[in-house]
Amino acid sequence: MSDVSSKQEAARAIEEASKISLVCHVGPDGDALGSMLALAEAAASHGKEVQASFGSPFVIQDNLSFLPVSHLVPPGDFDESPELMVLLDAGSPDRIGELAANAKAADKVLVLDHHVTNEGFGDIAVVDPGAAATGEIVYDILLLLDWPITPQIATSLHTALVTDTGRFQYSNTTPRTLEIASELIAAGAEPARIGQHVYEEVPFGYLQAAAAVLGRAHLDVDMSVVSSHVTEDDLSASGIGWADIDGLIDTLRLAREADTAVLLKQHSDGRVKASMRSRGRTDVGSLAAELGGGGHRLAAGFTIEAELGDVLAQVMSRLTSHR
Ligand code: AMP
Ligand code: MN
Ligand code: MN
Repeated sequence: MSDVSSKQEAARAIEEASKISLVCHVGPDGDALGSMLALAEAAASHGKEVQASFGSPFVIQDNLSFLPVSHLVPPGDFDESPELMVLLDAGSPDRIGELAANAKAADKVLVLDHHVTNEGFGDIAVVDPGAAATGEIVYDILLLLDWPITPQIATSLHTALVTDTGRFQYSNTTPRTLEIASELIAAGAEPARIGQHVYEEVPFGYLQAAAAVLGRAHLDVDMSVVSSHVTEDDLSASGIGWADIDGLIDTLRLAREADTAVLLKQHSDGRVKASMRSRGRTDVGSLAAELGGGGHRLAAGFTIEAELGDVLAQVMSRLTSHR
């Protein structure tokens, strides 16, 4: 379901702007950062003044720090009333943290996103749940603009596609996804180098934190749920940060007996961030939306201020109505 006319409208807004301020969702993943940095790079090389950022904590996970980050500025340095503010991979305004205030003060807000839970916001919204990654939408817009894909841009966009499709194996992978990937590799993206950075290395402390979290994993056979939690203490004991454990849910969800995996991240300020994955029987996106979050059918999350046990109970009590 590709919305061609609004992609054209988006391209026009980008072309007309002299300054472009880009923001992706907090705790950026490969798609958020990759799609944003690709558009930043392309706009900068076409004479635009460019800045890119994301809400605090302003930390890039080490696995993604190979991306071209030269246009990144801390959120505190971000334009207070941008001319054109572009929001990438953010399904709702609250996903950009404190930079939501800057979006409110912007002359024009352009939203580029693919979350099925995105109800459409901003002055121009390109929301395409058929796109495997926001990176696909950025690629289409660059084509419409007739802006060349440099090796750096290709690297950022390929990273966006690889990460949001789980290396081209999730159900969101389409022929179009692979066509775009093919074009990106032809343009200079190096899959082996990207894969090495993203998937083939972790800090040693990750192994220790993973051991603790997997050691306390619980399988509820009747409900077909595997769950666990990770605390700030787990991380400090292992010398790692929240940005380092993005991939941990991918190990938890391997339990064959469970359709649904739930990983609760207990922050020291009282907030619990929940990551959920489904093998297909559960629509975790709509479940997350009920709890104030969002995402996709098979991968979603929400943030809530509650006790760990209560958060899990909330999820469990809602499961059957999303199956
Ligand atoms: P994660 O579990 O953090 O990898 O996120 C899985 C999917 O759910 C991604 O598409 C996220 O953008 C989305 N998501 C995660 N947390 C939230 C949240 N608090 N609100 C809305 N969407 C979320
Ligand atoms: Mn994302
Ligand atoms: Mn995405």
